[in-house]
Order: sequence, then structure tokens, then C-alpha cells
Amino acid sequence: MSENQSIFVDGEWRSAASGATREILDPADAQPFALIAEGGTQDADAAVAAARRAFDEGTWPATSVAERAALLRRVADLLVRDREKIGLLESRDAGKTVEEGRVDVDCVADAFRYFADLVVGEGGGRVVDAGSDEIHSVVVHEPVGVCSLITPWNYPLLQASWKVAPALAAGNTFVIKPSEITPLTTVVLIELLAEAGLPAGVANIVTGPGHTVGARLAEHPDVDLVSFTGGLISGTKVAQAAAADVKKIALELGGKNPNVVFADSCETEEGFDTAVDQALNAAFIHSGQVCSAGARLIVEESVRERFVAELARRAERIRLGRGTEDGVECGPLVSAQQRDKTESYVASALAEGAVLRSGGKRPEPSEVRPADGYFYEPTVLDQCHREMRVVREEVFGPVLTVETFRTEDEAVALANDTEYGLAGAVWTADAGRARRVAGRLRHGTVWINDFHPYLPQAEWGGFGKSGIGRELGPAGLAEYRETKHVYQNLAPKPVRWFAG
Ligand code: NAD
Repeated sequence: MSENQSIFVDGEWRSAASGATREILDPADAQPFALIAEGGTQDADAAVAAARRAFDEGTWPATSVAERAALLRRVADLLVRDREKIGLLESRDAGKTVEEGRVDVDCVADAFRYFADLVVGEGGGRVVDAGSDEIHSVVVHEPVGVCSLITPWNYPLLQASWKVAPALAAGNTFVIKPSEITPLTTVVLIELLAEAGLPAGVANIVTGPGHTVGARLAEHPDVDLVSFTGGLISGTKVAQAAAADVKKIALELGGKNPNVVFADSCETEEGFDTAVDQALNAAFIHSGQVCSAGARLIVEESVRERFVAELARRAERIRLGRGTEDGVECGPLVSAQQRDKTESYVASALAEGAVLRSGGKRPEPSEVRPADGYFYEPTVLDQCHREMRVVREEVFGPVLTVETFRTEDEAVALANDTEYGLAGAVWTADAGRARRVAGRLRHGTVWINDFHPYLPQAEWGGFGKSGIGRELGPAGLAEYRETKHVYQNLAPKPVRWFAG
């Protein structure tokens, strides 16, 4: 595409129907570095119409599983080919380090390969024993139809791939709307799908705002499924919009994720070092802008002081800067709005009695940290409690709150005391306790002595207000399918229920 033609409909790149454009800012210096089309409802309607035609009249839904899988694998290869370019673009757009951008591209390629393998490995439908040789009964899966895919700014390409890969593997057509502030790598993904040979109209993208393009994609009567990843407030609106036509929905929303540390995990120096290191990683990677960030440290009272002192010491040493600079460990927040929100949560926590152990302010500008960048220091807030806003609500910034417990029951109660339920971790040297606590946590992913890893083969999603449905794994494919039971009577005869 050329600059500002970031809308792809029916195999053609275009500008917004209104001609509107948007500058994309580098969060490290607030300077514009790309220009994209600012689409509106007219563009959303055109894209849905193209996806509808491609589904109802096109070849893709009936394409063999082997061909669909081959296309997904070609996309994975193209991603690997362009890894450096895409990793760098993601870094500039979302503010993450280039290394994080590269890792994201690897994970995206893995997602495409995983869904290719999954559909190929499944075989045909499931034959059901109807109890008679005269009946052939089989359960088959078919694509849902036209999918609206709406994605957030923190992992723009990764979140897109968790939707695009299974949607295509299942034979759907789609319109994707990336976050208006980080659309660039999703535009590249659509370019790669076209290069890999996807027929026109199957994959469409409309760049533009949530309240116009996103809202239209969620309510459009010709859309069959809406898959949304983002915040709780927008997710609720999407669910309401989709409900009018009883569209299928999948929601991946926020989290307020507990990281529970038992004292026994810190008995050896190595155990202590690992638990502190991973608590830092849990809370501060990508400046805490991770849906599964371990933003609530729930640590056993007896090790609290030693643990928090070391955590704060290491948090102060995290090297903040432009993600493209060598040696930088954490980039800026994605926008001024996100930094302001983080600042207001820290202020409210301090007003409610939290004790600041590190950070709590914007860093001094430096050679690698332009003054206009949206940087914020990794912040550790001690002596927090569950009534504080900062403990209950998702900050989505580099802010770690510390709570303490004395008993296992207390630890579990604290960890489950959230309206969300996306992910959580337990650190302990006691295998029995690890299994007990993991079993009692009401979260969609539970890590034992680890934090953050996920596998494309394993479902991702949340309990409670963290969402509806799952991404990845077999359930992540099932979201994009209708299930049909085909019952064939090989020897039909009258049933004589009615005498006449
Ligand atoms: P957001 O809700 O502001 O926006 C997400 C997307 O929805 C964007 O594309 C936006 O334009 C669009 N949107 C906004 N209002 C809309 C509306 N009324 N109708 C339709 N679309 C609308 O979220 P964000 O700030 O971009 O992302 C951060 C949030 O995403 C956090 O809450 C985070 O926890 C969540 N998230 C969850 C997961 C997960 O797997 N559960 C993964 C990543 C991010």
C-alpha cells in the first residue's frame, strides 16, 4: 500500500471514503512517523459487503483443508522472511523494544503454523453411533461466515494473529480493525496474506476509530461473529451491539492478575533470586501494558520486607528508553493518555495510604529517552489493600502493588478477589501446595513457579469479566465454526406417528 491507503477491501488498497487521515506517533518522542487512512462507517460497510460476497459466492469457504493450511504456512514463512522489518515496525508503533517486536513476530508465525497443523490433523467429521446400520450420523464443522475482528494496541500483531489464523483455517472471511493508534503491523499482515495468495475479499482491513468503525463492525447485520480483544468498557459495548442480531461473540478483556509468592519459594538464594526476577518480569515487561501482567504481588508476610526491598532495588535499575536503542529494557507507554492514566492511579494509591518503594514519576530525559516520550518509571507500591482502586482496577502501566498474607487460605482469597480472572501465578517449593492453590485459583491461566509463558496449543482466555470464549488451542478454532449434525437415514420408511 502507499501512504494513507491503509484500507484493504476486495483485494484493493484505498484511502478512506471521507479522505480523512491519521498520523501515527512514535511513543518514544511523540513525533509522527506514518500516515494512515482514518476510515469511517462507509468504509466498514464496504469491507463487510466484500467479505459477505467472498463468503457467499467465493471459493474460500469450500477450499480444501490442505490448501487452507498450505496458505497459513506460507504466511508463517513470509513473516519469518520479514521478521526484522516487522519487529522494528512493531517496536516503533507500540513502543516496545525491538527484541520484543521480533519475539512477537516469531509467536505470530507459530500461531499460523499451529492452526494449519490443527485443521490438517483433525480429519473429517465425527461419526456418531446412531444404534442402527441404517443410519449414518456425522457431526461436521463449518465456517461461521463473516467475522469482525477488533484488536488492541498492546500486542497489535500478536492479537490479530490469534484471530486471523483460526478464522482463515476454519474457512471464514473477515474484516479486521486494529487499534487506531497501532495499526501498522496489521496492515503488513494483510499485505502478506495477499502475497500468500488469499483470494480477494476474504481478508479486509479498515483502519479507524473504535466508536465509528469498531462500533459498525460490531453491529453490522451482515456480520456473523465478532471477536474482540480490548478493555472491559469497550467489550461491554461490543457485546451489546452484537446482541441485537444474536451474533456469536468472543471477548478477550482485561485482567488484574495476582502473583502469589509463598515464603518457601525464597528459602534458597537461587529461589529468592528467581522469584524476584520473575515478579519484575511479570509486572514490568512492555511497561506493564500486558493483559496478563502480574500487577498484584501477594507475598507471604514473613518475607515481605526482604522481597520488596530487592524488587524495588532492581525496578529502579530497569533501563528505560526508546525501544530501538541497544541496551534498553523497557520502552515508553503507548500514549500520553496511557501515561496520564498511570499517573492518576499512582496518585490515588498514595492518597489512599500506599507506600512508594520505587518509581512513581516520569524519568529524567536522556540520550535514549527524548523529553516528549511517554516514559514512566517502574513503580512499586507497598502496603496496598484490596479496597484501593489501584488494586481493583486495571492500570495497564508499570505499577506493581504489594499485598501480604499469612495463610494459604488468605492467599487464595486475595488472589481470587477480583472481578477479572485472566491469569495468575503461584510460587512455592511445596508441590502439594502448588497443585492445591492452582486448583483453587479462578483464572484462565495459572502458572506454577513461572510467569507469562503461553503455548499456541493451550487455550487462552478469562474467567469472570476477563471475557467470553477462548483463543488458541482447539477451543480457539471452535470459536470460528458452526457445528452441524448430519443424520442420514439409509432406509427411510414412514414413522406412523399420525394415524391418517
Ligand atoms: P480498547 O477497548 O480501548 O480498544 C480495543 C479495540 O476496540 C480498539 O481497536 C478500539 O478502537 C476498539 N473499540 C473501542 N471502542 C469500541 C466500540 N465501542 N465498539 C467497537 N470497537 C471499539 O482497549 P485498548 O486500550 O486498545 O487495549 C487495552 C485493553 O485490552 C486492556 O484492557 C487489556 O487487558 C486488553 N487486552 C486483553 C487481552 C486478552 O487476551 N485478554 C490481550 C490484550 C489486551
